[in-house]
Amino acid sequence: MAQRPYIVGNWKMHGTRAMLSEARAIDRAAERLTKVEVALAPPFTLVHATRKEAGLIGVGAQDCHPAEGGAHTGDISAPMLKDSGAGFVIVGHSERRSDHGESNELVRRKAEAALAAGLAVIVCVGESEAERDAGKAVKVVTAQLEASLPESTDCAEKLTVAYEPVWAIGTGRVPSVDDVSEMHRAIRAMLVGKFGEAGETVRILYGGSVKPDNAAELLGANEVGGALVGGASLTAESFLGIILAAAGENTD
Ligand code: PEP
Repeated sequence: MAQRPYIVGNWKMHGTRAMLSEARAIDRAAERLTKVEVALAPPFTLVHATRKEAGLIGVGAQDCHPAEGGAHTGDISAPMLKDSGAGFVIVGHSERRSDHGESNELVRRKAEAALAAGLAVIVCVGESEAERDAGKAVKVVTAQLEASLPESTDCAEKLTVAYEPVWAIGTGRVPSVDDVSEMHRAIRAMLVGKFGEAGETVRILYGGSVKPDNAAELLGANEVGGALVGGASLTAESFLGIILAAAGENTD
């Protein structure tokens, strides 16, 4: 059976409790748009409240520490996220990699900690503009992914990959559909090489300046199983435009 498109909103460091009204509106729409699987990753401070306010959509977090607990001031562990109502966690987002110097190895340990806590995990990868210009994008991204994925070959069903070209995040620029297709095919081949048949079922999201007016085209690219959306997920109105596009409903 074909999988439903998976549309995930990453609120980054945005949102106070006043924004829960957006989550509620997204949740109400998701009740009607059953052809699409919708999720939100609000900041840690809103995970529990979002879970309570929005009962139908998935709710997750944007990062976790690789340890279960301990002396790590300011960090949050995967079991804590699970306890607060999260169902998944994003790891390896390019803003974590650049702001906090996260290596592939650390991302892999975070992904493994998330799985051990019973969370699903979205592993993010993406090339820089210089790497794309040098013709190295596919090589860089597949190597990054290989080193960022959990070692176990038994976790495909809990895993989602997000391909997010760094130069497309928050810039309004997007790769061509052909470039997205080429990358997603290469990621699929890598996943099948690692997980065998189960690698066919891992969803590969595209992320980077997805908006209501380009969503249908990007979601139509080869092997694209959904979208990871930053800026356009901050209001129900724009996020719903993307969800509608994923559902195949005209937004005109
Ligand atoms: C993101 O941060 O994951 C993202 C894709 O951001 P934006 O949609 O704003 O480019």
